[in-house]
Amino acid sequence: MSALAAGIGHVLLVIGGLLARHLLASAALIAAYCLRVLISPHKRCGRCKGTRVARHLLTRRLRRCGRCKGYGKHQRLGARALHRLRWHVTSEIAALRERRSAAREEEQA
Ligand SMILES: [Zn+2]
Repeated sequence: MSALAAGIGHVLLVIGGLLARHLLASAALIAAYCLRVLISPHKRCGRCKGTRVARHLLTRRLRRCGRCKGYGKHQRLGARALHRLRWHVTSEIAALRERRSAAREEEQA
């Protein structure tokens, strides 16, 4: 009975270790992706490969790429949300600094 309990405990430990390792790996991957998006939020358009023109499906004529609307690039997944978050954080920090300096000037006066 105790051997069975020890066996189950061992299996649980192994599963827990695997989960923790994968959790760390996925967290690292997500962090790397966020950094990538913050550094370069745009990605070359997959349909026109950045040329801004693509062939029409039926007529095969060259026309402005419909996926990127002639921009040649498109935003990476989550780029807008991440940059909005960054702007929110930086503006909050700036407001905090502004309030602190105003309070300091009031103290001096
Ligand atoms: Zn395109």
